[in-house]
Amino acid sequence: MQILELTCRQLRDKIAGGEVKSVDATTAVFEQIEKHDRQIGAYISTFKEQALAKAKQVDEKIAAKKPVGLLAGVPIAIKDNMCTTFGATTCASKILENFHSPYNATAVEKLLAADAVIVGKTNLDEFAMGSSTENSGLKKTVNPHDFSRVPGGSSGGAAAAVAAKMCFAALSSDTGGSIRQPASFCGIAGLKPTYGRVSRYGLVAYGSSLDQIGPLAKNVEDCALLLDVIAGHDEKDSTSVDEKTAPVRDWLSAVNNKPQNLKIAIVPELFKGADGEVVESVKKAIEIYKSSGAEIIEIKMPHFDYAIAAYYLIATAEASSNLARYDGVHYGHRTKNPADYIEVYSKSRDEALGDEVKRRIMLGTYALSSGYYDAYYLKALKVRNLIRSDFTAAFAKADCIVMPTSPTTAFKLGEKTNDPLQMYLADIYTIAVNLAGVPGISIPCGFDKNNLPIGLQIIAPAFAEEKLLQIAMLFENKTDFCKTAF
Ligand code: GLN
Repeated sequence: MQILELTCRQLRDKIAGGEVKSVDATTAVFEQIEKHDRQIGAYISTFKEQALAKAKQVDEKIAAKKPVGLLAGVPIAIKDNMCTTFGATTCASKILENFHSPYNATAVEKLLAADAVIVGKTNLDEFAMGSSTENSGLKKTVNPHDFSRVPGGSSGGAAAAVAAKMCFAALSSDTGGSIRQPASFCGIAGLKPTYGRVSRYGLVAYGSSLDQIGPLAKNVEDCALLLDVIAGHDEKDSTSVDEKTAPVRDWLSAVNNKPQNLKIAIVPELFKGADGEVVESVKKAIEIYKSSGAEIIEIKMPHFDYAIAAYYLIATAEASSNLARYDGVHYGHRTKNPADYIEVYSKSRDEALGDEVKRRIMLGTYALSSGYYDAYYLKALKVRNLIRSDFTAAFAKADCIVMPTSPTTAFKLGEKTNDPLQMYLADIYTIAVNLAGVPGISIPCGFDKNNLPIGLQIIAPAFAEEKLLQIAMLFENKTDFCKTAF
C-alpha cells in the first residue's frame, strides 16, 4: 500500500484502526515535499517538527484507545490567508511577511480539535486577488501536471499541494472561484460552501460579503468529511448562520445516498464562452447524469453576463476598505525613515503591496467615492440582486445547475499577466455563485489534448450541501477521473 495514494477518509480509518501510523503518513508527506516542492512551490511555510509531534501524540492516543477526532492523524495544509498562532500568516504579501497572529482562525481551531496534523501554509495570489497565483508577492507556484502552466488561483498553492500528494487535503478560501478554479486546473475536488456555512473568523478579509472557507481534496467524499469538521455557527462571526437555519449534518455518511428524481439545469448559452474540449467533456458528463436517470432541463440566466462587472466592483470596494488596515502602523511592514506620518502610510503601502492589490484598492476606492457611488457600487449591488434572482428561478425548476468550472484548462505562466481583464475572465463561471452566496463544487470530468484536467462545476441552492455532494458523488462513482487526474 502506498500511503500517499490514500484519501483522507481511507487514511483516517487506517490510522484509527492501528493499520497505519500517523507518524509514517506525516513522514511520507514531508519526504514528498522535500522531493518536489522546490520545483512546484506550493508551500510558503512548513511545520515538520510540530507536525511529527502531533502525529506522535495521535498515534499514542490511538494505542491507548483514547477517543480521537474525525481527522485523527491526517496531514492537512492551510492556505496562508488563515490566521494561525504557529508560523507567520502572510497572505503571500510583503506587507504581512512577518505577521504572527495571536489567535487561530475558527476553521483552523476546528481542524486541530479534530486531531488533524497541520503540514504547512500554502501559496496564493496576494490577499487572494487573482486567478493564477502569479500575483503572489512571495513565490511562484506551478501546476503539478505541467510545470510551464499555472495551478490556478488564488488557492494555487493549496491545490498544487493536494494534487502533488504533498498533503491529503487543504483548507482554502473562495471569494470568486479561488477554490473551484484551482481544483479544476489541478484535477482535484474543491467545494465552496454556502455563504455563512463556515465561520470566517480569522480568515483575512478580502471581499467580506463573498469570502467563504472550504476544502480542496482528492475526491467528493473527502470534501464531505472536511465540511463535517469545519461547518457550523460561530459566535465570533456574525455572518455565520445559526444551526437551526442551517443544521450541521453528517455529510460523510450522507454522501453516498443516490439523489432521487434528480433534475439538472443547464444554460446552453453559457457554453459558448468555453473552449471546445471543455464543452465536450462537460456535455459528456451531462450524458452520464442522463443515463443514470436524471432529467436535464435547459434554462436561461439572463443576468449571468454581468457577473464579472458587478463582482469586480463589489469585491474591489470591499477590498479597498478591508485593506485600509495595512497602514504601516497596525500591522506588518513599515517604511524606514519616513519624513512625516503621511509617508508612514503611503510609503509602507507603496513598498509592500503588489501591483494587482494596488489596482484593486484604487478601483474600489473610486467606486465608493461620492459622486461615483450610485453609478458604480450601488448599480453593482442591484445587479447582484438580479443575479441572485436568476439562481432562485433556476432552483425553482431544478435541483442544481451544471456548467464548466473554467472556460479553459490551465494556461501558461505569464500568458495573462499583462492583461488583467483576460485574467478576470478566467472566473466567468465561478463568480456568480459567490454573488448569490450559494454553494458550488468543482470535480474532475476529463482531460484536454495536452492531458490537462477539466473541471465540472455543480451549483445548488443555499444550504443544500447534502444534495450537492450527493450529485457530485453520483458522477464520481460512475467515472474514475478523481483517481486518474493526478
Ligand atoms: N480570481 C478572483 C479574484 O481575483 C477570485 C479570487 C478568490 O476567489 N479569492 O478576485
